[in-house]
Order: sequence, then C-alpha cells, then structure tokens
Amino acid sequence: MSYDPNNIFARILRGEIPCKKVFENEQVLAFHDIAPKRPVHVLVIPKGAYVSHDDFAAKATEAEIAAFTRAVGQIARDLGVAESGYRLIANAGVNGGQEVPHYHVHILGGANVGPMVSAK
Ligand code: AMP
Repeated sequence: MSYDPNNIFARILRGEIPCKKVFENEQVLAFHDIAPKRPVHVLVIPKGAYVSHDDFAAKATEAEIAAFTRAVGQIARDLGVAESGYRLIANAGVNGGQEVPHYHVHILGGANVGPMVSAK
C-alpha cells in the first residue's frame, strides 16, 4: 500500500489538525487517542511517511527505528504505566483493523487491558 499524504496523522504532523501532544522529538510524535479505550491511551507515530510496521521496518533508517523504539519506552514510563503494565498494539492493514494508514503504536494502560484478542 502506498502512503496517503492526506491521512489524518499526516495532517496532525503538518499542524493542520490539533492533537493533545504528550511527547515530541525530531523523529517521533505522541498524542492522546481521540477515543480512548482505557484510562491511558496514547498513539506514538514516527514523523516519517510509513504506512505500517512492516513498511517502517523495511524503509526507516536505523536512527528512526532506534528513536521510535526508545520513545515508546520513554513515553510508557512518563505516563506512569511501566510499573502497573500496559499493552502495545500496532494494527496493520485490513485484517489488522488499521483505520489510519500512518504507522502508529497504541499504548494502552491505567486499567487491565483485558484478553489479548477475543476468540472467534
Ligand atoms: P488504528 O485502528 O490502529 O488505525 O487506530 C487509529 C486510532 O486513531 C483510533 O484509536 C482512533 O480513535 C484514533 N484517532 C483517529 N483520529 C484521531 C485524531 N484526530 N486524534 C487522535 N486520535 C485519533
């Protein structure tokens, strides 16, 4: 899938749409999910134009990958969920239920996140 520069997170990165920012550096932005599923629900996105985890893993520089991975951990600590626990989710594509086609990781916590997936 090619990157759609008009997806909602690209527009947030360009400052066209506001967000409730929790973290930013040269490579990474994190903000509160607009429809939180748990008391803590933050989205972490790379600033580069990547669609999904596999796209990011294939095309991002080592520096971008390191910065993103470190930022996710830092943000989990800063949000106060590292001790009590949290879940990272990265939906990809149709079967993954991805709604916004800009790579992002959800950090969910602040309460029990529940079973990993429901049985089919
Ligand atoms: P996904 O299904 O993994 O693509 O998740 C997309 C997430 O983006 C959902 O949890 C939405 O609630 C969230 N979302 C959509 N629009 C916005 C927005 N403008 N600001 C913050 N979160 C958003």
